[in-house]
Parts: sequence; structure tokens; C-alpha cells
Amino acid sequence: MQPLYIKVHARDNVAIVVNPEGLPAGTVFPDGLTLAERIPQSHKVALQDFQAGEPIVRYGQVIGLALRPIRAGSWVREDVLDLPMAPPLDQLALATEVPPALPALTGHTFQGFRNTNGSIGTKNILGITTTVQCVAPTVDYAVRRIKLELLPRFPNVDDVIAITHTYGCGVAIDAPGAAIPIQTLKHISLHPNLGGAPLVVSLGCEKLQPARMFPDRHLQRNLMPVLEDDPYVIRLQDEDLRGFGDMIAAIMRAAEKRLEQLNQRQRTACPASELIVGLQCGGSDAFSGVTCNPAVGYAADLLVRAGATVMFSEVTEVRDAVHLLTPRAINVDVARDLIREMKWYDDYLLRGSADRSANPTPGNKRGGLSNIVEKALGSVAKAGSSALMSVASHGERVTAKGLVFAATPASDFICGTQQLASMNMHVFTTGEGTPYGLAMVPVIKVSSRTALAERWPDLIDIDAGRIATGVSTMEEVGWEIFQCLLDVASGRKKTWADHWGLHNALAPFNPGPVT
Ligand code: CA
Repeated sequence: MQPLYIKVHARDNVAIVVNPEGLPAGTVFPDGLTLAERIPQSHKVALQDFQAGEPIVRYGQVIGLALRPIRAGSWVREDVLDLPMAPPLDQLALATEVPPALPALTGHTFQGFRNTNGSIGTKNILGITTTVQCVAPTVDYAVRRIKLELLPRFPNVDDVIAITHTYGCGVAIDAPGAAIPIQTLKHISLHPNLGGAPLVVSLGCEKLQPARMFPDRHLQRNLMPVLEDDPYVIRLQDEDLRGFGDMIAAIMRAAEKRLEQLNQRQRTACPASELIVGLQCGGSDAFSGVTCNPAVGYAADLLVRAGATVMFSEVTEVRDAVHLLTPRAINVDVARDLIREMKWYDDYLLRGSADRSANPTPGNKRGGLSNIVEKALGSVAKAGSSALMSVASHGERVTAKGLVFAATPASDFICGTQQLASMNMHVFTTGEGTPYGLAMVPVIKVSSRTALAERWPDLIDIDAGRIATGVSTMEEVGWEIFQCLLDVASGRKKTWADHWGLHNALAPFNPGPVT
């Protein structure tokens, strides 16, 4: 393989090395640039000489200022970069460059489960919700028995899962932040893949009472006619239940009734507009912003054109690119909503005596990402090129169509849990690699580098590294992701995470105090 680097934007004065083994000092690129030192794959090479204080530009944006003089052909690392200020939130352009609507894409369908409440599922799962961690092992035990003794009789049901978490008691339940985990758990419990109706196991004395999780009168009327006596709410401290055996029997009786209902569900043709796709990245590297994330961005545009909902999230990975997003908001109100979420997170980090620089991980840095600015610029490529139609707060369920920002932390398992409040499909990009998966929705994993896809052929679903080496185009990989979404949503194809049953624990975001 010839010495190869990738420069993303015409204004860039650094580029990243493509060759898998990196390149030694003295390597001469076709344009005459000579390496002054060894540079590993995906790390940055200076395309010019820099004076101290000169801006270093990648993606056409300043990712930092040179802390000392840098010679052309040198390795541009974290330690030679000064972290610039985040874009000030009071000086952003609001809805000034709204992209025109993309041409409609029609005729694409998938085989989904249509629920009576109008929502569309991509799996058919019995989910048993819990209001508190105290009941989790009991529900886990019941689920093992249900899978063994009941599930084989209901062939249309894919799985039985316990929706367990660490929330529910020992928390300041009236604190403003408590609404976030409670809303998240409520929306997850009503998820389209669970048929849109909950089966709840409560302890009895916990702070998060079932009526607090489902406060809506219409929910109590329609889904749980009389909440206190509902057969789908089981309280382990109920005086009628004598011992563990009774508890398990009560859960299994309710589970059997729900399985009978779920088994009636059939897949039917649904337009691609019914997809609600959550986008996330984890273990990103310097290739993520030039291969997998823009390819997912291309797929995001296809989804938007087909009338679907595409959510991107991860506040700290959007914060440093917010000046590129507020102009794209469909109107000034949506731009202000985005700023509100950035401000909320700035304040949240400040309360914890941290800031956005806490984000990049050792793995991100090993993968060539020097700081959060560079990481954010690559991360927002997932959002494609369409107008930002709506912004959802932490824990809020997304109802808008088109491109939506749904506020979540960037932490993979917390972001995934928060996105579960809305999404029926998940696309996850990775550079360093993670076997991440979720029980409730399929997770399609896209790698930034071919080397990772080759090392983990039984974990990575799509290799976007082919874009860096010129084997495939961005458009080809984008269409492949789009088609893969339709196939997996239809149950025709299984993701590797589902093949192996790799399902991360739910981790609702709780910014409130623990007591
Ligand atoms: Ca993440």
C-alpha cells in the first residue's frame, strides 16, 4: 500500500495517516510531504510548518492552537495542541442557513409490528418492568423460568427480558433531575417492541411507586384500568403472596397472559417513515469522522428523505460543533432549544467541577483524537446534512419526524438507555471497538477502520473503513446501512450483538441526588 493520508477539508493544515501499520520517519507521500517522525495509523501529520499560537485546522475548523513550533511532516499530538474555548452560546447564528428539504425517497418498507396505539415495533418482546433495583434478582429468576417453561409455547414472541436498573429508591425523588430517569423508564416500559403495554413488578415500599412511573390518567385508564388492582402490576410485599414461590407464580401468571397477547402480533409491511433510528458513537478514533460517521450521516439523509425520524445525541460531543448546527435549525425556536440543552449540560458539568474536556477517553486519544473539539467535529457528521427539525430534552420521547437532537450524555450505555425512550432501531459507530448491544432494539455496529472489522468479523456488522482505502464510496456504505436497517427491522437479518445475545444493562441518566 502506498503512503496515504486523508485531508477532510480544503482548509485543513493537518491530515490523518491511513496505512494500517502507520508510517516510518522519512516516508515520502506522493505530493512530496516527508515524515519527520514515525506516525501511527489514524494520527495527524502536519501539512505545513506552524509557529506557536497558529491555528490547527481539521474538518475546516480550528481544533486547537499550536503550543510550540511544529515542522511539516511532524506528528500533531494532544500535547502540542491548546484546547480552544467552546463556542459561546450567546453568539450563535440561529436558523440562518436552513438546508432546503431533501427530495422525497419513496417505496422503501420494512416488516414491523403495528401496535394498537399506533407505534411500530421491530421486535416482539415480553418486557417485565421494575420500579426499583430491589426486585431485579427476583424478576431475573422469573425470566429464566418463563423462558424455559412458557416461551416455547409462543413462537411469535422473540424474547423475554427483565427491565432492571439501579434507580427507584434511595434517591431524591422530588428533585428536578428525578424526572429524567422516571420519564426514561416510563417510555422504555411502553416501548413499541414490548407491544406498547407494561407488565410491572414493584417491591411496595419504594419511592418510585408504579403510579409515579405512569402518572398519565389516560395510561391508567387504557393500559392499566385500575392501577391499584391491575393484574399487570405485581407487588412483592403484597400480603397475599406467601414466600418466594408465590411471587414467582404471580409473575408467571401475568407473563403468560401477556405472552398470549404478544403471540397474536404479526409483522406487516410498514413504510420506512416508521423507523425511529438512534445514532451513537463509542470508542471513536480519528477515522470515525471521515468514514463511519459521515456514512451514517449519508444514511441519516436517506432516512430523513424517506420520512423517518433520526436522532443524534451525546451533548458533550455536539457542544464544540454547536455553531455548525444552530444555523441548520428549521427555525429560531429549535435553535434556541438546542442552545438550552447545551447550557443545561454546561451547568451540570460545572456542578460536578468538570467541563467538556473530561470527555475524550484514553482509547480516543490512542485512536488519534487529540481533544473534544476534534472528537465533536467528527461526531456530528452522523447528523448528515438535513435541517434540524426538533430538540428533545433528557428522557423526553421524540415524536417529530426528520432529524432530531435528543439530549443524552455521551456515555455509550447511558446514551443507549436514554435513546431507548424513543428509538426502534440503533446504529452505533466505533473505531476502537466495543461489543455493545441492547436487548430491546437491534444495534447495527459500523466500524471506522477495516482492520477492526477484520479483527472482529463476528461483532462488526458493517465496515466503513473501506471508504478510507477507496474500496467503497461514502454513498455505497450509506445505502448499505440504510438497507441493513430495513432488513434488521424486518427480522430478515440479525445483528451480531443479537446473534450472540450481547445486551448491555440499562443505565438511566440520573442527574439528581442519591440519599
Ligand atoms: Ca457514546
